Amino acid sequence: MKIASLGSGSKGNATLVQSDDTLVMVDCGFSMRETLARLARLGADPAEITAILVTHEHGDHVRGVLPLARRLGVPVYLSHGTGRALAERERFDTRGVVLHEVRPGRALTVGALTVTPVPVPHDAREPCQYVFDDQRRNVGVLTDLGTITSHVVQAYGACDALVLECNHDRDMLAMGHYPMSLKRRVGGQWGHLNNRQAGELVTEMDQGRLQHLVLSHLSEDNNTPEHALAAMAEAGFDDMQRLRVASQGDGFPWLLVE
Ligand SMILES: [Zn+2]
Ligand SMILES: [Zn+2]
Repeated sequence: MKIASLGSGSKGNATLVQSDDTLVMVDCGFSMRETLARLARLGADPAEITAILVTHEHGDHVRGVLPLARRLGVPVYLSHGTGRALAERERFDTRGVVLHEVRPGRALTVGALTVTPVPVPHDAREPCQYVFDDQRRNVGVLTDLGTITSHVVQAYGACDALVLECNHDRDMLAMGHYPMSLKRRVGGQWGHLNNRQAGELVTEMDQGRLQHLVLSHLSEDNNTPEHALAAMAEAGFDDMQRLRVASQGDGFPWLLVE
């Protein structure tokens, strides 16, 4: 299996997971033009994309989903609640796109991949993050959640590779320029993971098994790569061969999960 990212953060997200000839994109928060340019940078052929999986309806995750699905003729997988939330938007035109509903906790097959949607606490209608298994290895994508639940620990505890949200440093958020309401939202139970919470998950994981840990969805205002990496070191994971930080501009390059 291998994974890559087109970009990660509040301005847009898209992650690629590939096993054999199955290539799925998790979310597409970029315009068509941006998406195609970023795919080209990764050397990924858009025509090889098998499906798009959506985690939730926030703009940084769905902006490009329908135009891309329509252009490539690929299906979109999303939860019932995410579909409902999107259907209530005026500009959400599903004509010509095949939508499949996923159910939290119920595994589905997309080509060579078994995909498990994992429900997470986030301020969206029915947000799901995903774990991918190709019978040999498993890879987790886990961003946009306010709390690490025991269910999340169970679902992601034995990943061979993990894309993990480290949204903010608690002190930077508290001291920063955000209005109080936004500070409460981001830092709340239904908001985004701070570095320390992400570290708490990592302490619960089988770290020997983890080939890649990619710190993701970092806030450009309330975090730095150094803060996020320091939190991982505190959690006992500081092997820089296996640890990296995804960026808004570049995401992260293809990583092989052997
Ligand atoms: Zn997001
Ligand atoms: Zn979100």
